[in-house]
Amino acid sequence: MTQSRTMEFNSLRVHFLEGYIQNIILVEQEGRLLLFDSGCINDVKRIQRYCQENLHRSPTDIKLTAVTHIHPDHAGGAVCLRKRFGIPIAAHKDVDRWYRGMSGLLQHQLDCYLATVVAVRNRRRLEQIHYRRRINPDYRLEDGQKLPFFPEWKVIHVPGHIAHDLAFYHEKEQVLYTADLICDVKGQPQLPLPIVFPQKMAESYDRLGSLPVRAILRAHGKPIITENSAEIFAKMRQLLNQPPTPFVQRIWKLSNHSPEIKKLDYK
Ligand SMILES: [Zn+2]
Repeated sequence: MTQSRTMEFNSLRVHFLEGYIQNIILVEQEGRLLLFDSGCINDVKRIQRYCQENLHRSPTDIKLTAVTHIHPDHAGGAVCLRKRFGIPIAAHKDVDRWYRGMSGLLQHQLDCYLATVVAVRNRRRLEQIHYRRRINPDYRLEDGQKLPFFPEWKVIHVPGHIAHDLAFYHEKEQVLYTADLICDVKGQPQLPLPIVFPQKMAESYDRLGSLPVRAILRAHGKPIITENSAEIFAKMRQLLNQPPTPFVQRIWKLSNHSPEIKKLDYK
């Protein structure tokens, strides 16, 4: 059986599946299923198995894959899930720009390589995680929109980690899915790797810190239950002021090839 745990809210049951290098979050809402990020391409089998063995449902019951950004551990399985099970994809309207052209191709290869390094460091068996660098979303999202089929979830554009990152926010339940924005190293909150646009990242943390949030769901690390989410995001913002270690600098250097970086002219 796929390793998992669940969390209950008034109108939601959230399933956390252990993916190849990240959590996969499957939200059950009035019997309907919403997938937050698709995991890596090799996580498709884990999602399928979980639906069938744990929920006794078909993966075709998943109404939507809502993708936060194009990295391998978030968008890697999305196209495969659509092809096999007919699950539509919602993502930022410009999500496919990040890996465009030759420099985008290079960045995509590097990101697949870096994801594999993470898998090896986590003592995972080596598996193929290469995926199509364009996901061609069925629903092109913008800041402030609501998720298709799940209008309780609001779309928030939170650039910084890369350019087209999204977070998803359930206002009534005060639940926020932040994907990579608060990572975890040995139980401590950590910045994502890389941060391509530090100034935008600071603004994104400020924005998330202004929302009433009692549960933060994450792709890397356990969910955070809190009565003071503003403080958590303020701390994340402070971490941006620390000078990057040589290791972090190396990752940043490997992450500055997307053609979007020059075009957007973010700081
Ligand atoms: Zn990422």
